[in-house]
This record gives sequence, C-alpha cells and structure tokens, in this order.
Amino acid sequence: MRAVSYVRNNTVEVQEKPVPEIEADEVLLKVSGAGLCHSDLHIIAGGDDSPLVGSTLGHEVAGVVEKTGDAATGWDVGDSALVALVLSCGECDKCLAGRDNECEVASPRGSLAPLSPGIGSPGGMAEYLAVKTHHLDPLGDLDPATSAPLADAALTPMHAVNSVRDRLVGGATVVTIGIGGLGHVGLQILSATTGARIIALDTDKDKVDYAASHGADVALVSDADAASRIMEETNGRGADVVLDFVGVQPTVDLALSVIGVGGAIRFVGLGGGKFTYDADSSALPWGVNIERSYGGTRSDMREAVALVQQGKLHVETTKYSLDDAARAFDDLRDGKVSGRIVLVP
Ligand code: NAD
Ligand code: ZN
Ligand code: ZN
Repeated sequence: MRAVSYVRNNTVEVQEKPVPEIEADEVLLKVSGAGLCHSDLHIIAGGDDSPLVGSTLGHEVAGVVEKTGDAATGWDVGDSALVALVLSCGECDKCLAGRDNECEVASPRGSLAPLSPGIGSPGGMAEYLAVKTHHLDPLGDLDPATSAPLADAALTPMHAVNSVRDRLVGGATVVTIGIGGLGHVGLQILSATTGARIIALDTDKDKVDYAASHGADVALVSDADAASRIMEETNGRGADVVLDFVGVQPTVDLALSVIGVGGAIRFVGLGGGKFTYDADSSALPWGVNIERSYGGTRSDMREAVALVQQGKLHVETTKYSLDDAARAFDDLRDGKVSGRIVLVP
C-alpha cells in the first residue's frame, strides 16, 4: 500500500509498505482521509536521526472497516469510524478517571507526545491502518474523509474549552489566538457552546475575516498593538480566558500580558514560545491558572462529533491526494492553507 513516510529532516515521501496484519481485537480500516496537522511539521523537523524517521505519519484518521479480527466485536465491515488520537490503555488510573489523554501507559512522563497513530505507532496517511476496536468511535452518516480532523483539530480545542467552561459565562471575555486548523474549530466551539464574548486573533488577514464571520465579537490582526486593543476591549480588566492555538513567542507573550486576575490560560500551540515565572513579581496577576493542554479525552471527541452531527460545527477541509503529500506539507508550512488539509488515499 502507499504510505506517507518521514524519510529525513523536513522531508516526506510516499512509499510502498505492506498492508498491516490485524490482531484478534483489531479491525483493518480502509483509510478515507487523514488530516495534516501543524504538529506533523514539528515532527518532521526532528532531524535525520529522530526515532520517528521511517514511520508513517498521520494522527487524524477516519475510514471504513474493511476486515474484522476474530475478537473484534461491535464493528462490521462497511462501518465508518474515527480513530482516537491517544492510543490509551483503557485500564490505568487516568483512563478510569476519564482522563485518557493523560493515559499513564500511552503518555509516560518525559515522552515527546502520547502514543498516537503517526506518533510512535503507524499513522493513517496510508491506504490501510490496523486499529484496536477500543480506539474507534462511530461516525454514523458523517463523511469519513472530511471527518478525519475531528480526531485532533476538533478534539483538542474541545478539550481546552471544556477545561475552562465554567468561566465562559455571559459577561466573560475569551481571547482565542490563531484561526488555523485548530483555531477555526475552537472559535466555532466557543461561539456555539458558551456565552462568553470572543476576541479572536490571527496574523493572516483572511483568517481575521473568517473569524469575524464565524462567531468572533471582535476580530483583530495579531500585531504589536493587539495587547493594548484587548485591554481596551476589556476596560482594563484583561481576559477571563486566553486560548493560544499557536504557541510562538509573540502569542505566549500576548497571552500573559492580557490575562486578567484569576483568569485561565490554555497553551495548546507548540510554536516554541517560552516564558519564565517570577515568584516575586506582579507581572502575572494573582490567581492565574495555566495549563499545557494536550489533545482531549474520548468524551471530548464524542462531543465534537455530536456538534458536527447537529450542524453546529463545520470543519473547513481541502482534499489533497495522498500522492501529493509533499506539496501539502509545503503548503501548510507556507501558510497557504485555510482550515485543514485532508490527504485522501
Ligand atoms: P495551522 O498552521 O493550521 O494554524 C496556525 C495558525 O496560527 C495560522 O492561521 C497562522 O496564521 C496563525 N498564526 C501564526 N502566527 C501567529 C501569531 N503570531 N498570532 C496569531 N496567529 C498566528 O496549525 P494547527 O494545525 O492549527 O496547529 C496549531 C498549533 O497547535 C501547532 O503548534 C500544533 O503543533 C499545535 N497542536 C497542539 C496540540 C495539543 O494537543 N497541544 C494538538 C494539535 C496541534
Ligand atoms: Zn495534531
Ligand atoms: Zn491508560
């Protein structure tokens, strides 16, 4: 089968690999689509010696069951399915507490990222993928190709929003930074499911325009004036919540400079931004809660699927042939993508 392989630093190639054998508790999924995440760009920037060199990428995967293992109950040939981001064990204390995105087996302390398809396990940018049934969720009538990004681009903002949902009441202000693959979904989730006033930012004018027409109360270009604009918009109080879906130095700085007293910041983007904590400084207001937010739980994923089924969330997708993977990676790196690219085998 054809599969997109990380072959060396910043380079992917479509290679011929064997169709995977399935174990008794697995299904063989015929991949309908695999989303291209900005994290895939971070992964392939890992050099020529990364442990992931040689592996098949793709952690946002959906498809149709082609074959079932002998003990694979609950799934029939022809069913559409979404593959969970984190290949959680289902049995550790975290999993049993419903925090499977922090599964102790899939995500040991110090790991680069939890075990996922395409991150430590074969990914879905391929014609076929073997998946354990307990890592599959039904898609019903949704188109599996364009639903692939629900496994991360929708799951991850859903989790970040759910973690601050009690703060997002009428009268509160949320600042959401980055209107890309994750951010354009996060904006819609905020708009559809919370009562907060939304200030959305991106450096790209087209994305700012998208935000203005998709639920943002205020849409701003993310530039040197952004912090003072946000402070004006909040009458000097600062924001109740900041969601950073970029994580570069300017956005990390912006998040910290506009968060209000007792506010919450969710750092989702992995753009290399840094901050230092000064225990004896008023630069960070009292009571601020900061989380390095990873992916989401299976429950977050089901909520995202339900929002799409209810017509309250639409992931913007552009289909590229799997054979055009190298061009897709270049286009994402060059900022030419709106919404999410889905690679179709
Ligand atoms: P994307 O390329 O689709 O979107 C990034 C967006 O950020 C673009 O719209 C771009 O114009 C905008 N941007 C760039 N610089 C900006 C700035 N200074 N201010 C405001 N906007 C700016 O990327 P994506 O797939 O949405 O991923 C976003 C980030 O989240 C990446 O770093 C990715 O690795 C990370 N990520 C994290 C998790 C997690 O679980 N923590 C999951 C998925 C992705
Ligand atoms: Zn991702
Ligand atoms: Zn677990």
